[in-house]
Amino acid sequence: MSWTNETVRTTYEEVLRRNPGETEFHQAVHEVFDSLDPVLDKHPEYAEHAILERICEPERQVVFRVPWVDDNGRVQINRGFRVQFNSALGPYKGGLRFHPSVLLGTVKFLGFEQVFKNALTGLPLGGGKGGSDFDPKGRSDGEIMRFCQSFMTELHRHIGEYVDVPAGDIGVGMREIGYLFGQYKRMTNRYESSVITGKGLDWGGSVMRPEATGYGTVFFTQHMLATRGRSFDGARVLVSGSGNVAHFAIEKVHQLGGIVVGCSDSAGSVYDPDGIDLELLHQVKQVERERISVYAERRPRARYIAGATVWRVAGEEDVQVALPCATQNELDTDDAKFLLDHGLWAVAEGANMPCTPEATSVFTGVDILFGPGKAVNAGGVATSGLEMQQNASRDAWTAAYTEQRLAEIMEGIHSRCAHTAEEYGRPGDYVLGANVAGFAKVAEAMLALGV
Ligand code: GLU
Repeated sequence: MSWTNETVRTTYEEVLRRNPGETEFHQAVHEVFDSLDPVLDKHPEYAEHAILERICEPERQVVFRVPWVDDNGRVQINRGFRVQFNSALGPYKGGLRFHPSVLLGTVKFLGFEQVFKNALTGLPLGGGKGGSDFDPKGRSDGEIMRFCQSFMTELHRHIGEYVDVPAGDIGVGMREIGYLFGQYKRMTNRYESSVITGKGLDWGGSVMRPEATGYGTVFFTQHMLATRGRSFDGARVLVSGSGNVAHFAIEKVHQLGGIVVGCSDSAGSVYDPDGIDLELLHQVKQVERERISVYAERRPRARYIAGATVWRVAGEEDVQVALPCATQNELDTDDAKFLLDHGLWAVAEGANMPCTPEATSVFTGVDILFGPGKAVNAGGVATSGLEMQQNASRDAWTAAYTEQRLAEIMEGIHSRCAHTAEEYGRPGDYVLGANVAGFAKVAEAMLALGV
């Protein structure tokens, strides 16, 4: 910790004291605070009004029991969370994550990131996040439905289109959003479309929402590459994960002439020198809900490495771009150094906080491009914002128009980060640019709204 500003230091100590053991939350706060010294020096009014202390303390945290009955008739108990972090810019907005690793601290870290990410989109969205330690893996459709219904039976009293608008995240896709929205409608007797985003196309969803995070990630990377006169054309790319974000990042990279030679799931990684076959990936992961090893079995030149992350899957062959699109802390220092030794130009975080702080320092310590998650993957929540706009005006936009809006928003986020970095004398530092631009927007709104 090399912060000179007194408020930054004492607030971080207070965060540690108030949130014991929540290491991911500490990490997320630390990462933002690393950029804030010059902002607080320039704006003493932020410290006077305790903006930093207030921004680290969620406005409301809801923790609840989620009882449900499995297919064997046994009662199961999970824990549900919703952290309503900051509503200075708009209703709380952010996804729900269903994964056995989810704890209150996980949701707090994600909610904290979400506040600044949502601010960067330029749309009127506050920040929040929720989820459960429920493990959807291996659960039947009926079990998923009963879990979602029980989860929403409690959550419904805390959300609303002007209050808090959840969406998906890891383990929560269109199927789960359907069951959640169905239960909200049943409990409230209101067809309140924009109480949740990521809905199906036939019932209020946005055409581009499934694609948005992955496409947006690639759009942002394209802008970063362009600052160095580079593009995806002919570039070899690694994408971690094989879920929604990874799938559409791969699709867009291929459309732009790049070749994605590796992807992964939580069990292992695949190297495919011919480029990932998206149709097969979809069949294996989404339709058959199988492990990614099955993909490798069906592709003649692909190889599968059990238990390995994707970052070294290409061996001694160079890759130019790395897009971590799976989960937090999935890329460490050794991976970072290995990639740098093998031709890396750029890293862009499609997931939330996928690079460890040490790996991030390795990347930012050398002359490559590094795009932080809260800027890079903001296309997902931005398109959720567009879905809310369509719902509010009882409209449905075309795919072409929605993609154009998404592309404009990503361009805006990129230039906001780039200009802020320049303004603070650190051109090309997207970490500083994203943290400072996001923070300043929320801080100004909080000042305007009073204590
Ligand atoms: N879960 C996504 C994120 O991390 C999207 C949230 C949303 O659409 O509200 O930003």
